[in-house]
Amino acid sequence: MKKIVITGGIGYIGTELCKIYSGESWKNKITVIDNRFISERVNQLRNWNINFVNEDIVNSENVKKFLNEADVVHHLAGITNVARTKDEINEVINKEMNRVGLKGSEIVLSEISKNCKIIFPSTHVIFESKNSLAMDIKEDCETFPALPYAVSKTKNEEQIKKSGKNYIILRLGSVYGYSSDTTRLNIMPNLFSKITSQNGTIKLFAGGKQLKCLVPLFDVVRCFKFMEEKDDIKFETFHLSKDSVTVKQVAEICKKINPKVKIEETSDKIPNLGYSLSNKKLLGTGFKFLCNLENSLQDMITKWSEQEIRKNLEHIKKGEKEFIDARGKISNYELPEPINLIGYIESKKGTVRANHFHPIQEQKCLLVKGQFISIYKDLLNENSQKVTHVVNKGDLIITKPNVAHTMVFTKDSVFLNLVRGEREHENYGVTHTKRYVLVNNDERKLLLNSYKFNCRSCEKTNLKRVISLGYQPLANNLLNQKDSKCEIYPLEMNYCLDCHNCQLSVVVDPKKMFSNYLYLSSTSKPFREHFESAAKKYIKEFKLSPKKSYIIDIGSNDGVALKPFKDLGFKKILGVEPAKNLAKLANKNKIKTVNCFLDKKNLNKIRKNADLILASNVFAHSDKLKEMTECMLKILSNKGTIIIEIQYLLNTLKDLTFDNIYHEHYNYWSLTSLVNFFNQFESKIIRAERINTHGGSLRIYVKKDKNSKIDVSIKALLKEEEEFGIKNYKTYQEFADKIYKIQKNVKTNIKKLKSNGKKLIGYGSPAKATTALNFFGISNEIDFIVEDNKLKHGKFIPGVKIPIVNKSKISDKNNTILVLAWNFFDDIKKNNTQLSDEFINIKDLEN
Ligand SMILES: [Zn+2]
Repeated sequence: MKKIVITGGIGYIGTELCKIYSGESWKNKITVIDNRFISERVNQLRNWNINFVNEDIVNSENVKKFLNEADVVHHLAGITNVARTKDEINEVINKEMNRVGLKGSEIVLSEISKNCKIIFPSTHVIFESKNSLAMDIKEDCETFPALPYAVSKTKNEEQIKKSGKNYIILRLGSVYGYSSDTTRLNIMPNLFSKITSQNGTIKLFAGGKQLKCLVPLFDVVRCFKFMEEKDDIKFETFHLSKDSVTVKQVAEICKKINPKVKIEETSDKIPNLGYSLSNKKLLGTGFKFLCNLENSLQDMITKWSEQEIRKNLEHIKKGEKEFIDARGKISNYELPEPINLIGYIESKKGTVRANHFHPIQEQKCLLVKGQFISIYKDLLNENSQKVTHVVNKGDLIITKPNVAHTMVFTKDSVFLNLVRGEREHENYGVTHTKRYVLVNNDERKLLLNSYKFNCRSCEKTNLKRVISLGYQPLANNLLNQKDSKCEIYPLEMNYCLDCHNCQLSVVVDPKKMFSNYLYLSSTSKPFREHFESAAKKYIKEFKLSPKKSYIIDIGSNDGVALKPFKDLGFKKILGVEPAKNLAKLANKNKIKTVNCFLDKKNLNKIRKNADLILASNVFAHSDKLKEMTECMLKILSNKGTIIIEIQYLLNTLKDLTFDNIYHEHYNYWSLTSLVNFFNQFESKIIRAERINTHGGSLRIYVKKDKNSKIDVSIKALLKEEEEFGIKNYKTYQEFADKIYKIQKNVKTNIKKLKSNGKKLIGYGSPAKATTALNFFGISNEIDFIVEDNKLKHGKFIPGVKIPIVNKSKISDKNNTILVLAWNFFDDIKKNNTQLSDEFINIKDLEN
């Protein structure tokens, strides 16, 4: 058994060194001596069976016992907040540096036995005043210390060499690596990766031309251990440095990992060009580096981003440092605080647990088997929304105090409850836990029946929450009476980490939404015009002929897209529409329409070999998208084209049009996610165009023939999406933050608007108005909503229960009209000047 002493073991390098020694504290006797006491760290050391001595190294009486008997000393104690430039030189720190650095080392050297090995970190800074760029400096090169820190380290080296003790001196390059210790942010790669995780701006002084020698923290501590183990290496000095790179190169790697980070160069004078150390001698001993710069930066950026996520009320942590072999998998979970109690809890499928909150304790549950839906809500914030997410086997969820939470089990499950503090049964409802019914029995059933656990496109389960708009009613299901019953479902968008698809967290039964549909596309003049010009464009481009060409429209509504073809004499046109009332209306207008969903069981109702299949704004409306797509490809002729129009996610994210999100829209597409989707079939997207409908849409052309030529528009748009960050979860989080801010602003602005005493009247009741009004919580503030679509008159907006009426209800102009159908604001204002003198676009209340 070796006796190993680590001085300064609480510090940056010491902490990491103790981590690797924690695996063998059963075979070696390890003692950490440090004058600081950080309870979390000290607890950790004790849990690792590492002895901790809270003592200053210069108090020789109290530390000599440990030093006398040591076989190895890792002498890390020193001052780290040292001056890095001449301006920072400070007498107090200098004195302290001499006290701990020189006096401390003197004590260690005099107290250790003759056979003890001392391993000491020196620094590359001892070469700093070399005048010009020096490459691959070797160990025997003369040193040029300038700043007091370097001078002190040089003296230390002399001290150690003269002592006659068995020594190893490791001259470290700039040590970088993740640490929650913010003082470590003065290290360039650490600072850059933190900036990168926040999409910030990296400033490169003097153009970042200075050369730096860098070494990853993990390899540094591995090298310390390596030197401890190698008895034959003694009385040696090594340069422990891995990468020689310029500051600019590091910044560029960060930019490659996260393209949203900005780099700014300044052209001030370069203080010196830097230098690099040769590590040849070290590599000659057989030591190997494990980390590379890019991976280490990536790792730090991820860790910094997670720190941000930790601000969330409840977050999921996956196991880390996985080890997999034929026996199975090991993964580790580092907890934010020590625990003293583990509860083992089994739960049957379909049951509910929790429905409570913990006033003081942080809740930590590790799901060992099964799956559950977690529902939570912040009790400290009265405006907070209820949020749901799926917890899968192997997930650790951490919930903040005063957050009500409930678990609805979707499979037979086992979880471990990891507790700090007490969980006595008799104190339930009194101290540690208080009841709060967040999910009742009806909601339990609803969640079990409608939750979506897999990505609709790639079927994987790596879904992350983008935004929660709270629980909301079905947007187009207007109420017949003010107090008619209406179901509410979570309205939340998730993002698939694998294929970048966005989808809702639940799937509402389509029969509940599409069987009797009140949205008539033909009511809107801009829509009619949109489809008229589209028809002309397609006829010209695809040389369609009125007699021969066969055109199908999926989700044809009242026939709005087919009517222009009919008017131009096309004979073979067919609509497919699941809403009975709309199909009936279309047929009445002589546009042949079958009343069904496009799925396998209805495929025989539709003649094959279509030359053109249109699908406008339906691609978001289907849960069984793969089946629908297969059917579309089956009824398409080999040379035919499918033209799909979707609301464009890039617009939603950029323009903050969150009110596009409602339960009918199961899916939210970017070109990136569409390409991933269509690659799964015998098909190919050959062109993409941005169009203006629905506040920003995308039109794509799909062919069966895999050899079809791809238009340049595809590459260009994919690039634009990538640059915007469509593949980066952070982009979606930022979108959500902005939307929550809008919610706050609109509420405040409505209050101001009401203070003038005039009536507030809404104009237009599209689905997006239901989303927005329910999300904002605006109800009685609006007297009523006027609407052009007669079918909606006499009904009420679900949730907020605002009546919808004919505009004849407006008796005088003493009112403010708030236009809810904001994308038609100009038309509405122009055509209704007799109703009011004041028209306000609801979008203008967002700031
Ligand atoms: Zn996916």
